[in-house]
Amino acid sequence: MNTYRGKRIVVLGGAGFVGSHLCERLLAADAEAVTAVDNLATGDERNLVGLKNEARFDFVKHDICAPIPVRSPVDFVFNLASPASPADYAVLWLETMRTGSEGTLRGLELAQEKKAIFLQASTSEIYGDPLVHPQPESYSGNVDPTRPRSVYDEAKRYGEALVSAFRRSRGVSTRIVRIFNTYGPRMRLNDGRVVPAFVGQALRGEDFTVFGDGKQTRSFCYVDDMVEGIARLGASDVADPVNIGNPDERTMLEFAEAVRAAAGGGGKIVHQPLPEGDPKQRKPDITRAKALLGWEPKVSLVDGLAKTVAFFKTRV
Ligand code: NAD
Ligand code: UDP
Repeated sequence: MNTYRGKRIVVLGGAGFVGSHLCERLLAADAEAVTAVDNLATGDERNLVGLKNEARFDFVKHDICAPIPVRSPVDFVFNLASPASPADYAVLWLETMRTGSEGTLRGLELAQEKKAIFLQASTSEIYGDPLVHPQPESYSGNVDPTRPRSVYDEAKRYGEALVSAFRRSRGVSTRIVRIFNTYGPRMRLNDGRVVPAFVGQALRGEDFTVFGDGKQTRSFCYVDDMVEGIARLGASDVADPVNIGNPDERTMLEFAEAVRAAAGGGGKIVHQPLPEGDPKQRKPDITRAKALLGWEPKVSLVDGLAKTVAFFKTRV
């Protein structure tokens, strides 16, 4: 069954990296209308050029911290609006907190008014610097509320609490996806995240800037797999949080070598200071996603990096 056929969908943060792929995925599933609402704080209208002749698609430039101006009926609200790179939220400190709190509130109010299903993009960052590995949804995390990353971590934790309160007290049908590190075409070359950083360095023949000793780990999910997981969760009736991510875990030293192989270039490894509070390890436990959504990632790191490198060649 195609849940999204004929449905009217609002994607908050729809001009961003993941959000723009999600808009395309929902239109491909025969949605009647998809409206991306985005203030372009970290997004880019170029992400939407492929949709400019699509009559079912609409872009509204708007900060979701203000009431969201959608007059027509809505069946689903997907909330992906938030700065997502540590380098972005280290500039947009208060905007990140406001978007995760007030912005999520405005999104939930829209969903309540329209009797729409609300899906919140949460994050593996709610586990902080995890003491349990890999991370199942039952792990409540290890977050320091005053470290630099806390503007993001705590806003996302508050967002989950707010979503849960709207479900319990106002009867809004809600979903929470905990997104783990995701990569692919349309990331910003200079967004500071490790994938565009390393791919850009490889394509320019520069040294790889590895923060700390490079033994910290991340697990990278290709964007097509991520968007499929989000779409399946939205179509399910699962209210509890669900991890979506690829359990293929790498150290940053290993990851630099994977990028070097994919891009066919790059210099030596140079170490730079580890940012304060940088999690030492991260890997999703995706047992719940497999059991409840029948979802697991399909795209290998080699294949995903090949597509990502091809995209960044057009941007370097
Ligand atoms: P992104 O920065 O490309 O996209 C976020 C979008 O939200 C941008 O287009 C930005 O302009 C928009 N936005 C920010 N504040 C806004 C506001 N107040 N009003 C309207 N629009 C606003 O980042 P992304 O990687 O696509 O992340 C999308 C979502 O997924 C975010 O909520 C992020 O926290 C979550 N997430 C992403 C990852 C990842 O690895 N990409 C990991 C965990 C969670
Ligand atoms: N990182 C790095 N070099 C860079 C950028 C990031 O070694 O140029 C490291 C960073 O310290 C972290 C990992 O790569 O340990 C992933 O960083 P990213 O910002 O992509 O995501 P997050 O830390 O939010 O998982």
